[in-house]
Amino acid sequence: MTDFWITSIVEKHKKSEMLIDEGSAMQITERLHAFIWNQMASNNCNTYLIDGSEKILIDPGHVMHFAHVRNGLAELGLGLNDIGLVVLTHAHPDHLEAVRLFRGGLAKLAMHELAWQLIESFGPMIDPNMDISSYRPEIFLGEGEMTAGDTSLEVIHTPGHSPGSISLYWLQQKALFTGDLIFKDGLGRTDIPGGDGAQLKQSIRRVAEMDIEILLPGHGDLIVGKDAVQKNFRQVEDFWFAISS
Ligand SMILES: [Zn+2]
Repeated sequence: MTDFWITSIVEKHKKSEMLIDEGSAMQITERLHAFIWNQMASNNCNTYLIDGSEKILIDPGHVMHFAHVRNGLAELGLGLNDIGLVVLTHAHPDHLEAVRLFRGGLAKLAMHELAWQLIESFGPMIDPNMDISSYRPEIFLGEGEMTAGDTSLEVIHTPGHSPGSISLYWLQQKALFTGDLIFKDGLGRTDIPGGDGAQLKQSIRRVAEMDIEILLPGHGDLIVGKDAVQKNFRQVEDFWFAISS
């Protein structure tokens, strides 16, 4: 990772704080863009774009906040129909809802099979009018490598926050997309249906072993630099694991 990219992250981050209402893309590396949600007043997830021969959007977020992503994509000269694949780290509404804006378009949808099962079982309870079929994936992701265009990602099943939670490791960039497994200074909730504290710890310990330069969580700040990423894993282990055991 060169200083150039780190500098550009800082500059872009300042910009994103100012322009968050209109949406803003933060460039992390040449092929990686983040749409960081940093408004405290309402909950939404971070969205990430992998820019390759097939463009991958990870966790589109809430419909009501989607302008944040739509405008960020527009800054990059992209529209919804330029996205080839939408990947969900897990099937909670703040990550998944805007998936339906892509239906009828070109993008395929990918998630873990257990994430789809969660939508099938809980979707109608959350919203009786919810059209389940608009969230049905074309691709089920299990452990192992997935390829989209010239991008290869390793899918790691990391249950705990939800049964179908996955993390995605991009070896080429040493980047890990964690969804709600681990955050900067925190870890995913386990008090929602399907949550499991022991599984969450096990999943965090598994990814902590990996060679990660950029940690890209589903909420809050991203972490850049191997030492900072490792320090965050240690702090989560020392603080959160200690109080929850
Ligand atoms: Zn969640």
